Amino acid sequence: MGKFNRIITSMIVFVLMFSLFAFTSYIEYRRTIASDTQTLKDKLNISRTNIENNISSKVAAVNGLKTYIELNNDFNQEDYSIFVKEIYASSNDIIRNLTFITDTKVTYIYPYEGNENIIGKDLALSEEQKDLVLYTKQSIKTIITAPVELIEGGTGIIVRVPVLNKGEYFGQIAIVFDYYKMIEYSGLKTLSDDYFIKLGTIDNVRNQESIIWTNSQKFPNVFDYNVVSTDINMYNANLTLEAVPKHAYNRKTLLFKLILLIGMLVSLGASLLTYRLMKTTRILEKNKEELEHSYNKVLATNNTLEKTVNQLKESENKLQIQYDESKKQEEYIRFLAERDFLTNLYNRRKLSMDLEESLKTNKNGTILFIDIDDFKNINDTLGHHYGDKVLQHVSVLLENLMFINNYTPYRMGGDEFVIDIPNIIDKEKMEEVIINLFEILCKNHYIDNIKNNITGSIGVVRYPEDATSVDDIVMKADIAMYSAKKLGKNRYCYFVQDMIESLDWKISIEKELREAVERNLFYLMYQPIVNANTGRLLYFEALIRMRDSNIPPNIFIPVAEEMGLIIQIGRWVIQESMTQIKTWESLGLQVKKVSVNVSPKQFQDHGLVDYLKDMMSKNDIHPYDFEIEITESVLLDDIDQNIKILEQIKELGINIALDDFGTGYSSLSYLTYIPVDKIKLDKSLKDRFLNMENEQAIKGLVALCHGLELDVVVEGVETKKESETLKLQNVDYFQGYYYSRPMISSDATKYIEEDRNKDQ
Ligand code: C2E
Ligand code: CA
Ligand code: CA
Repeated sequence: MGKFNRIITSMIVFVLMFSLFAFTSYIEYRRTIASDTQTLKDKLNISRTNIENNISSKVAAVNGLKTYIELNNDFNQEDYSIFVKEIYASSNDIIRNLTFITDTKVTYIYPYEGNENIIGKDLALSEEQKDLVLYTKQSIKTIITAPVELIEGGTGIIVRVPVLNKGEYFGQIAIVFDYYKMIEYSGLKTLSDDYFIKLGTIDNVRNQESIIWTNSQKFPNVFDYNVVSTDINMYNANLTLEAVPKHAYNRKTLLFKLILLIGMLVSLGASLLTYRLMKTTRILEKNKEELEHSYNKVLATNNTLEKTVNQLKESENKLQIQYDESKKQEEYIRFLAERDFLTNLYNRRKLSMDLEESLKTNKNGTILFIDIDDFKNINDTLGHHYGDKVLQHVSVLLENLMFINNYTPYRMGGDEFVIDIPNIIDKEKMEEVIINLFEILCKNHYIDNIKNNITGSIGVVRYPEDATSVDDIVMKADIAMYSAKKLGKNRYCYFVQDMIESLDWKISIEKELREAVERNLFYLMYQPIVNANTGRLLYFEALIRMRDSNIPPNIFIPVAEEMGLIIQIGRWVIQESMTQIKTWESLGLQVKKVSVNVSPKQFQDHGLVDYLKDMMSKNDIHPYDFEIEITESVLLDDIDQNIKILEQIKELGINIALDDFGTGYSSLSYLTYIPVDKIKLDKSLKDRFLNMENEQAIKGLVALCHGLELDVVVEGVETKKESETLKLQNVDYFQGYYYSRPMISSDATKYIEEDRNKDQ
């Protein structure tokens, strides 16, 4: 409803209400008039009565005189005077005189003095009075006439009373009333202050209307309306007394005004109230609409919230699933870390851990180090694939043994296995176990329908009797096995100290290494690490080589470590890679970072941190352009010391990468406290995941590393397909033959130039 409607409606309310009050006030007004009229009527009646009384009392007295005269015709002026004296005296001057007219002639008059001049006058001759005198004579009726211009002067009201003699007209008595006194005594004058008054008469004699007295000569028309009148009927004179209030009933009483005022206020209030009510109704309606609108909105929001809650629940479920999965992956990674991929037996790392534990807890036991005899022949004649099957077969045999006797078999790599037999170091008891083992091995084994005669050479070491450290146990077991081989295979040898001296296999490597160090026969190859998404060069890994030698680094490095030469060699690698960086810089090429492998043994070099620092400042190398790669075996011994060293290296600004992730313990937990910036997933781990078609596991692992703010490099990427699959798992960097094999320095330089050309 609009404002216009409201105004109209409230106006109507005002008019209706006010009409009601106006009507009431009108009734009040009428009531006032009625009461005024009544008051006036009463006042007029008093005046009328006064007039009637004044006249009729005198007339009554005169009637007595009339009777007397009718009986005594010979009365004279004196008699007359005696009679009327009383009447006159008691009249309070209303009566001016009493005249006796014989026939039509004035005969006597009282008072006599001052009036004697009219005695003898024949009124039938008076123009003024002739009609009246004659009328009384003829009609023998008492008549009243007014106003009459009197012969003796002035105005009068004359009542004429006929007097008879023997039933015949004899004469008449004229009572002349003083006009003014009469009016005065009637009370009309007092009324004349508030009212217009008219005393009129119909003159029957002259048959004309005449006004006896009025105070409204100037306003003759006021008697047309609202007139209050009363008749005075005596002696044939039709007198009428009329009156009109001067303030023509314009009587707005206080009550009348109050009613109107209150009416005005109440109506105004009512109309305002109506307006307000309508407005409030409108506002309420509006509010209701708004409320409905808000309610709908709230409903909608509620729905959205419900949806969001459902989505959140879904996400939570998904997260739970992801969490479960990553938990599984972690377990799986742990499983992988402890297992050999080919045979599913425990691996070398697990052996180290278990032996460590046994030594720590003062347990004793015996280690059998088994090497399959002439396994190289099987590989060479029947192929690697078949060789793998044989290894798997042997693993099953060893596993069964474990199942029966609680012995734990491990695969050390290649055709080497170890069995840990706890609690037995007694030689005779061991003999039974070993013979049993030979029996199992020596049976004819059919693999792919090919008959195999498997034999093995076994080295036996007791701990802690023969050796008190893991490395020592394994090395001595290896040496004992080597002796068994030398003695003709398919046999076993207990380790004895003498055997160490007779070792000649390592000696050749050691010799070569020494020579290489002395004659500076090492050189570095460089393999690019690229951006996984773009394939563009980011940096190089430096990989060492020995000139004029077929021995690869993964063979000679462990020997160099054992000999302690690694510290010297390691320093050379750091120096050489920095020189390379400077060379590229001098060629005007964009400097590419070089990453260098640092052996755990190098951490025993207490000067390592200082060396790095010195070399960086000496060669003016920015720490961003240099990186080191470590393996988790730095955590195997002196973990606190080594972590301290790693932190010092980090303080120099040098980044640290964790190499070969997935080959050792690969516990995810140590990622949280080893201060590394980057993780390099080992080729074998990557291959395992891809073979199992478990890309999701890589993704989970990558996400985990990213969560720990670690960059992820995947090593050994050999095909486009691999790179494309891995790219989807959010891997940051790739290294592998697909991008480039390790290159000599000059080729690496060309590679930088070619990569730079891709910019244009
Ligand atoms: P690493 O640090 O894991 O080095 C990566 C190895 O993987 C290199 O073998 C590299 O040639 C090889 N590789 C790279 N891409 C592929 C690929 O796509 N497929 C395959 N199958 N292999 C690939 P490399 O140069 O023979 O080095 C072997 C190991 O020797 C290194 O493993 C590292 O542990 C050690 N090593 C090499 N240079 C040094 C060094 O200067 N100091 C130390 N302490 N160790 C070194
Ligand atoms: Ca490396
Ligand atoms: Ca590696």
